[in-house]
Amino acid sequence: MSGLQQHYQTVLRDLAQAAEAAGRLKESVRLVAVSKTFPAEDIREIYAAGQRDFGENYIQEWYGKTQALADLPDIVWHIIGDVQSNKTKYVAERAHWLHTVGRLKTAQRISNQRLSEMPPLQACIEVNIAAEEAKHGVPPEEAVALAVEVAKLPNIEVRGLMCVVKAGSNDEELRRQFATMRQLLADLNAAGVKADVLSMGMSGDMRIAVECGATHVRIGSAIFGQRGYSK
Ligand SMILES: *Cc1c(COP(=O)(O)O)cnc(C)c1O
Repeated sequence: MSGLQQHYQTVLRDLAQAAEAAGRLKESVRLVAVSKTFPAEDIREIYAAGQRDFGENYIQEWYGKTQALADLPDIVWHIIGDVQSNKTKYVAERAHWLHTVGRLKTAQRISNQRLSEMPPLQACIEVNIAAEEAKHGVPPEEAVALAVEVAKLPNIEVRGLMCVVKAGSNDEELRRQFATMRQLLADLNAAGVKADVLSMGMSGDMRIAVECGATHVRIGSAIFGQRGYSK
């Protein structure tokens, strides 16, 4: 087994253990393998081991990979980075999930550009959970209102909420941020948008995210290794 496959198996095992410790079924947490900056061959290798959900941040880079991997028909692409308005077409035409809806305008463009024969784009509203200056996403108090508007668009289905926690948070701070997300999801349902997804948890905080109700964890470096560059 290659190093990459070993790392992947380790993450699957850790995830199953985290679910068990939280009293949850492991099937209730979906692993999104974040392959940004890594080549299409690495994705192919993890795909061969059974992984189907992959997360990408940079639209241009991702688009090239969709072409290189066009022979894998059941691969599921999750966009987890900011989408500039000149790139919405790629997302509309090739993505299955968009975790980072932060503006109604962008969502409207994508809904308009989505091909009618495609199923609706599965979407999460990105919440700037710690109200950080440099982060994308809406402030927690605006998340429900945005979700309600996005849910009216014909070709987008709002599935839930996504966040990236504040860097350097200790366990208690992590739990507080994740708990706020969970509360917002309840608020969203109370507002009439049936939503069931909490996209939260990365390589460093997966266990606590699962404990706090994450349904999608986005794991990059624990599978693919350290990235050569980061943006
Ligand atoms: C890169 C990235 C991840 C994966 O982070 P790791 O720490 O490598 O697991 C998850 N979510 C988002 C939004 C990212 O940009």
